[in-house]
Amino acid sequence: MRIVLLGAPGCGKGTQAPLLAKKYGIPHISTGAIFRAALADKTELGVLAKQYMDEGKLVPDTITIGLVKERLSQPDCKKGYILDGFPRNVHQAEELATFGNVDACVYFEISMETLAPRITGRRVCEKCGATYHISTHPSETCDVCHGHLIQRADDSLETFTKRMSVYEKETAPLIDFYQKHGLLKTINANQSVDEVSNDIVRLLGENHD
Ligand code: AMP
Repeated sequence: MRIVLLGAPGCGKGTQAPLLAKKYGIPHISTGAIFRAALADKTELGVLAKQYMDEGKLVPDTITIGLVKERLSQPDCKKGYILDGFPRNVHQAEELATFGNVDACVYFEISMETLAPRITGRRVCEKCGATYHISTHPSETCDVCHGHLIQRADDSLETFTKRMSVYEKETAPLIDFYQKHGLLKTINANQSVDEVSNDIVRLLGENHD
């Protein structure tokens, strides 16, 4: 099963993706997480991506598309994959169609009132990237690897506002794109983590090969 998760920053893609990856036994591929890991390792890619991420802008397509193309060619993607944060614009979606199939695009529909507190209260493990929240999942250290929890630099209210405007302009047109291709499956992302998970599994089916 090859799935694209689509929705505004903070809609819950990053929370649902690992749950779905575990359920269906396929890799979770997050371009944001790849960039953050590269930055933590101080690689050339990480240093380059940082300039864009810090400003809430998209990393250029020439870099991002090549990265995803290479990742999807790995053997663990043969059975399928969950793309979280890619594609982020119509050009990326058109390019993806040339090297990777998409069986469904799950669109996380969410209200603006739900979004801002989700983002500004979000905390991530600086070691493994697991996601927490000061209200719904408070913790001092990571349950998975005991790493230190931090606020992502781009989760400040200021950068969030910029990311939202980039989302509206660049990414929201993908709703139409995948609708036209008959692949769009919309879920109500204002609900709790469990309710959203159940809705997605109901839409995608229990088992997939
Ligand atoms: P995310 O973790 O998905 O919220 O992504 C964090 C940041 O990484 C974004 O604000 C962008 O700067 C960059 N990024 C992630 N995915 C992409 C993508 N598909 N295209 C361009 N930039 C991306």
